[in-house]
Amino acid sequence: MPCWAAIKRVGLTLSAQQRQPGEHLYVTLEQVSKAYRKGTLSVTALEGVSLEIARGEFVALMGPSGSGKTTLLNLMAGLDTADTGAIHIDGREQARGGEGARARWRAETIGIVFQSSNLVPFLSALRNVELPLLLHPVSAGEARRRARKVLELVGLEDRSAHYPRELSGGQEQRVAIARAIVSDPKLLLCDEPTGDLDRVSADAILRLLRTLCDEFGRTIIVVTHDPAAAALADRQILLDKGRLTGPGEAGGGG
Ligand code: ADP
Repeated sequence: MPCWAAIKRVGLTLSAQQRQPGEHLYVTLEQVSKAYRKGTLSVTALEGVSLEIARGEFVALMGPSGSGKTTLLNLMAGLDTADTGAIHIDGREQARGGEGARARWRAETIGIVFQSSNLVPFLSALRNVELPLLLHPVSAGEARRRARKVLELVGLEDRSAHYPRELSGGQEQRVAIARAIVSDPKLLLCDEPTGDLDRVSADAILRLLRTLCDEFGRTIIVVTHDPAAAALADRQILLDKGRLTGPGEAGGGG
């Protein structure tokens, strides 16, 4: 692991000691539980999960299939609601406000990257990246400028006019990351972003996520089975049968 990561972790630990408790935290979960019901059947997806993630941390969320990783990510993204417990992101309770207010807040705060890039096939890379800005009060010119800037950041400025079918899987996923960050969210949630990619493309995506964390201060949570992703993260959080089995506190070491 590069030594700057260790330095950063030490920095987080020090600042945690110097600041008021909780001030450096970006994501906190307190006793979060979620069960899915089908008729009389109830499947527990998460049970009493408490977790703290610091601002600017890169966390790998790991565990066997069915352990609750995607459920946890969806709850943090506000795409689903917990049965019990509380989730705070940047000091704001996730479930606060009506549906419209929550959607606006989510669009400003959280970028989401899925395993499949989910690009719109009949729109160019540039137009795909501009899409989320429709939810923001920015002019068409400003949306175009921002989309070009983030495509440059992911190294695809020369592919902006290409359609998804004209891109490799790795390039599509880089466009998806550009789309997730174009509205400048502070938190990036990724569900197996390298799951469909070859090793070289996967490593390029992981380096990009690491850069977003190190150079741009983004907080990144990645659901992954990829040992390379886990190695690159500041910390691994382990889930098993809906319960946390690894360290859940911020800056807990990787
Ligand atoms: P993972 O991402 O670790 O594979 P999930 O969060 O997808 O795990 O699922 C956790 C548990 O919840 C599993 O037992 C799964 O079958 C169940 N589950 C997830 N989503 C639903 C759903 N929409 N309806 C019913 N059960 C679900």
